[in-house]
Amino acid sequence: MRPDSTTLVELEQERERLKREISELPDMRQGSLTPVYRKCGKPSCHCARDEDPGHGPVYLLTRSVNKKTIARNIPPQAVETVREHVAIFHHYQELSRKLVEVSIQICDLKLKNPALQLNPWVPGGSGKFASVW
Ligand SMILES: [Zn+2]
Repeated sequence: MRPDSTTLVELEQERERLKREISELPDMRQGSLTPVYRKCGKPSCHCARDEDPGHGPVYLLTRSVNKKTIARNIPPQAVETVREHVAIFHHYQELSRKLVEVSIQICDLKLKNPALQLNPWVPGGSGKFASVW
């Protein structure tokens, strides 16, 4: 079994890698792209038939804010770009989840072995070491 300090160094490297990757992410946005079809209501239109999906699709980007769903119309020429922005957001969520996971392992390791707790955290101290005295 490897000593905890080796594992800690590896975990901290992984944490730094994840933080760097997050900091380099391009534009992202949260939401679901939903195709919407509409019936225009004219009885003579093809959309009046039951099996016809209706006019469209137009795309809505929806997301939940304070338990309310807000929707934004996305122009057809922007759909692919928005799809990429949403994919980057999902990638960010995945990286963020891993970052928390690695951080939990680091915390557990330090709890198990208090000698590894070398860098006291200073709120707002941007990584500077705390003066203990
Ligand atoms: Zn119609």
